[in-house]
Amino acid sequence: MKDCIFCKITQGEIKSYIVKESPNFLAVLDIHPHSPGHTLVIPKEHFVNLKELKLELAEEFIKMIQEIMILLEKVFMTNDFTLGINEGPLAGQTVSHLHFHIMPRFKNDRGGSIHSVVYNPPQESLEVIYQRIKNES
Ligand SMILES: [Zn+2]
Repeated sequence: MKDCIFCKITQGEIKSYIVKESPNFLAVLDIHPHSPGHTLVIPKEHFVNLKELKLELAEEFIKMIQEIMILLEKVFMTNDFTLGINEGPLAGQTVSHLHFHIMPRFKNDRGGSIHSVVYNPPQESLEVIYQRIKNES
C-alpha cells in the first residue's frame, strides 16, 4: 500500500534490521525499542489488523513468532516476553499495518504485565456483560 511505512520496509524500500524472513512475513528490530531485542513480526501483504489477516497465513505467523522468541531467548538469556498487538488507534496502533511486538523481559526492567496497559473496569456486572456478548454471538 502506498505511503505505508511497513509496506516500504517489507518491500525493501526502507532499510531495516531484518532478523528473519519467511515467504509471507518479515521480522525486524523495532526502531524505538522498549527492551533489548524488541522485534516486530510484519506480514509482507498489507493487512490493517489481525481480523484482516488471511487464515491460511496464521500458522506461518505463529511459527515466525515462536522462532523469534527462541532466537531472542538464546541471545538475551531470558525466557520471558511481553507479546502483543496494538489493535486500533485507541490501543496505540500508530502504523495501520498489522505488526506483532515481541519484547524480551528482564528482572527489574521497569515494565509491568499486560494488565498495566489499561485499567477501565466496567460499570456493569459481569453477568450483564456476558449476556450482551452471548446475545450477539
Ligand atoms: Zn502496509
